[in-house]
Amino acid sequence: MKVLKFGGTSVGSAQRMKDVAKLITDGEKKIVVLSAMSGTTNTLVEISDYLYKKNPEGANEIINNLEAKYRRHIDELYSTEEYKKKTLDFVRGEFDFIRSYTKDLFTLFEEKVILAQGEIISTNMVANYLLEQGFNVVLISALEYMRTDKNAEPDPIYIKEKLKGQLEKYPDADIYITQGFICRNAYGEIDNLQRGGSDYTASLIGAAINASEIQIWTDIDGMHDNDPRVVDKTSPVRQLQFEEAAELAYFGAKILHPTCIQPAKYANIPVRLLNTMEPSAPGTLISNETEHGKIKAVAAKDNITAIKIKSSRMLLAHGFLRKVFEIFESYQTSIDMICTSEVGVSMSVDNTKHLQEIVNDLKKYGTVTVDHGMCIICVVGDLTWENVGFETKALYAMREIPVRMISYGGSNYNISFLIKEEDKKRALQSLSDTLFNH
Ligand code: ASP
Ligand code: MG
Repeated sequence: MKVLKFGGTSVGSAQRMKDVAKLITDGEKKIVVLSAMSGTTNTLVEISDYLYKKNPEGANEIINNLEAKYRRHIDELYSTEEYKKKTLDFVRGEFDFIRSYTKDLFTLFEEKVILAQGEIISTNMVANYLLEQGFNVVLISALEYMRTDKNAEPDPIYIKEKLKGQLEKYPDADIYITQGFICRNAYGEIDNLQRGGSDYTASLIGAAINASEIQIWTDIDGMHDNDPRVVDKTSPVRQLQFEEAAELAYFGAKILHPTCIQPAKYANIPVRLLNTMEPSAPGTLISNETEHGKIKAVAAKDNITAIKIKSSRMLLAHGFLRKVFEIFESYQTSIDMICTSEVGVSMSVDNTKHLQEIVNDLKKYGTVTVDHGMCIICVVGDLTWENVGFETKALYAMREIPVRMISYGGSNYNISFLIKEEDKKRALQSLSDTLFNH
C-alpha cells in the first residue's frame, strides 16, 4: 500500500480539494495524509497568541473570520444539501469548541488542542466530499495511533500496533484519510509533530505499514539541480539518495521536511516528491540507492554569520574545541559549518539570537571576528572521497569568488562553501555551468 501526503496549499481551497480527490481515486488502496488548509495553522497560532495575552475579544474576531472562510469553502465543495449540512454542522461544532477555550486559563496544553483542529477539519471535509461522490473512504483519527514517547520522539512500536488495529477495523475501505501533524504525547494529551510535521506523519505511517512508497505531493514545481529563481537553466532532479536529500533539506529545498527522511530511510521505503500542478510528471524519487559519480544539485542558504576564534593557546592544546562548542551549546545555537587550523577555528551559524553573548564568552579563549551577510553554497552528490575530480570541479567553478570557508569530507555527499551573500548569484551560475551540462 502507498501513503500519499498532500500539503496545505494542495488542500487550500474547495477546488484544490476536488483536484486531490481526483488524484487519489484511481482504484488503488491507499492511505492519504492531509495537512490543514493553507494558512489555517498560522491563524490558529494567532488565536492562541491572543489567548495567551488574555485578549478573548481579539481571539474571537479571528475565530469568526476563520469560521466564515470555512463556510464559504464548504458551500463551494459539496453539491448536495445533505453533505453541506453534515459538514457545516461538524465545522460549527469545531469552532464552538475552539471558542470554549477563550473563557479559561490558556496554556501550552490548550494551544496544542487548538492547533490540532486545522487537520481535523480538512480531513473531515475531504472525507465527506469523497463520500458524497460515492467513494469507499474512511477517516481514521491520527489521535488514535500517532504518539510520541517521554522524550517527545515518535513511538514506532505503538504507532505500528495501533495503526494496524485502525486499518483492520475497515478492511474493505479503498481510501483511508488521516491527519498529518497531530498526535498524542506519552501522557495521552493532544500534541503535534512540530510545524510542517505532516511529512513526518506520512513517513512514520509508511514505516509502520511497510508501505511500497511514500508520496509527498506539493504544488511546488519539482526539485531542480539549482535554484531556478537565480540560475538561467536548471534541470529536474529525478533521483536522490536519502542523505543527499537530507543535505538539501537544510537548504530550504522546501519540498520535504527534514524529519521525514529518517523513518523512510531506516525502513528502506522510497519517498517520491510529486507536483499536484503536474501530476503526470515523474517527480523526484528518494531512496537508499546512490547514483555513482554524479553531482545532483546545488543549493544556497542566506543569512549566515561566520565566527572565527584565533588563539595561540590552541596550538598543541587539547580540549580547546570542546570549550568553544560548549559555549554554543549553552546558548542553544547550532553550528552548521566548521573549519579548523592549528591556531584557529571558524564556524557558521544561522541563528544569531545569542550572538553577542557567544562572542563575549568566546573572547575568554582567543581573538574573535564576526562576518555577517554570508551565504552557504552546498554542492550535493556522490562525493565519496575515493572519487576523483569532483571537488576540483566545484573549486574550479568558484575560482573568481572570494571564499571564506570550505567544508569537504564531513559526509560522502556534500561540499560546502561559505561566501558573501552578494556573490551568491555568480557562484550558483558558475557552479551550474561547470557541473551540469544543460
Ligand atoms: N499544518 C501544519 C503546519 O502548518 C503541519 C503541516 O502543514 O505539515 O505546520
Ligand atoms: Mg504545511
